[in-house]
Amino acid sequence: MKPTVFITRPIPTEVEAYIAEHCTYRIWEGGGSISRSRLLEELADVEGLLTVGGRIDEELLQHAPRLKVVSNISVGYNNFDIEAMKAHNVIGTHTPSVLDETVADLTFALMLAAARRVPELDRYVKEGKWESGDDEPFFGIDVHGTTLGIIGMGRIGEAIARRAAFGFNMDVLYYNRTPKPEAEKRLDARYCPLEELLRKSDFVVLMVPLTAESMHMMGREQFAMMKRSAIFINVSRGKTVDESALIEALAQKKIWAAGLDVFDEEPVSPDNPLLRMANVVTLPHIGSATHKTRFEMAMLAAENLVAALSGKTPPNVVNELKEVKK
Ligand code: NAP
Repeated sequence: MKPTVFITRPIPTEVEAYIAEHCTYRIWEGGGSISRSRLLEELADVEGLLTVGGRIDEELLQHAPRLKVVSNISVGYNNFDIEAMKAHNVIGTHTPSVLDETVADLTFALMLAAARRVPELDRYVKEGKWESGDDEPFFGIDVHGTTLGIIGMGRIGEAIARRAAFGFNMDVLYYNRTPKPEAEKRLDARYCPLEELLRKSDFVVLMVPLTAESMHMMGREQFAMMKRSAIFINVSRGKTVDESALIEALAQKKIWAAGLDVFDEEPVSPDNPLLRMANVVTLPHIGSATHKTRFEMAMLAAENLVAALSGKTPPNVVNELKEVKK
């Protein structure tokens, strides 16, 4: 008998067909995100769950007595309660690598948009405010030839570094808990302590996973170390930043601008002061959101799911759950 799986959002037809070959499945097609209570009801008979975000915790696992695998359609897996999953012998998988270049493109889009004030000046033109005369009020900051500091030089960090060094002639500094000498040579990048990176960079890009250790790693103290002319970019997760400290740094002009794909609360509240700041570029968490990449992520997640339910080791089990028995 085929294993039963639940899928929390519509997926491409080809990916659905692949799952249908191997599993009996139900998909949430109710529009928007499935409610937590409905999801818990759906889990009673399932062995696999294909999902994007949504807390996988003790409560959920207790409602899913047959669950063997949770396959995330994302590289970040801060939605996994690792200890609870270990206790219930549930494998967790994610979708690394297939999105690196797409997320790096988006990071550069935010850097360029914030530096050259693209959304602000786009609004200005469309509102019919453009008149001939002095254009100095439109001046921005160069991206090429400046210094980029990457916090979290992983798969995506390296794709950003490559664009910076070889496309924009930037000096690349990076900070990780572990230096990467091989990547330094290949990408012409230099490891430095976080404090030095913050003091020297014209652009600071945060690209770490959200963990207990990285939670609020950018706070009041860190923003105070940045140059007043610097631009802060966050494409990681909203909670890696103390958002009130970021708002304060921008309001008090301790930094020049910010580009944000992620927020402490998502969807972001319309009352969030960041939405009223002309020097902040905001996006609705679209780092990997292109047709091609989202297809590849969904297919990889389906392959992880099917492998786990066929008694094989899925290609992308998250590190912390590699010891869970199949
Ligand atoms: P990765 O390859 O695992 O890289 C993460 C890097 O961060 C590693 O080099 C790691 O090095 C470093 N790091 C981890 N914890 C750290 C800490 N506490 N302090 C300093 N450095 C730390 O991950 P990735 O594939 O590049 O993805 C990174 C994150 O981006 C994901 O986890 C996800 O949350 C986010 N993301 C967001 C979007 C979006 O749509 N906005 C899309 C994709 C990914 P060390 O272990 O040596 O410290």
